[in-house]
Amino acid sequence: MHEWSVADSVIRTVINWADDKKIKVKKVVLGVPTFSFLDVEILKEAFDMMKKDSVLDEAELEVKFKDPVFKCKNCGKEFSLNEVKDQIEQVRSEFGEEYPMHLMPALAPSFIKCPYCGSHDIILQSQDMTIDEIEVEENGTVKTISQG
Ligand SMILES: [Zn+2]
Repeated sequence: MHEWSVADSVIRTVINWADDKKIKVKKVVLGVPTFSFLDVEILKEAFDMMKKDSVLDEAELEVKFKDPVFKCKNCGKEFSLNEVKDQIEQVRSEFGEEYPMHLMPALAPSFIKCPYCGSHDIILQSQDMTIDEIEVEENGTVKTISQG
């Protein structure tokens, strides 16, 4: 029931942020790491159940998946999943669909090497869920607030 606690913390965060401003939240855009095991349908369902009687009453939840970013501790360069796609395809063809990285993203460094220097000393970055955008209606005007 991980989805319910995610929905709960998203709602709490937005309510906290909105405080007692006279606004109506129309939309919340949540950035979710590709490697999280969230069921988006359940998450939306939980969100819709829990948003009632709050500033989020009319809000719609939009989920955007973000690809993970890796950082090489050896050369300091950052790279995206896309840049190591070939390596991942190879792992996938060796292990089949249930390739280990899918099951445990923390294993990624054992299978992926830095495309710049070939080191396996890499770490996974940006695994946090983020509220990227909040669309609100204030005095009849709709505006979008981007976080960060
Ligand atoms: Zn490197």
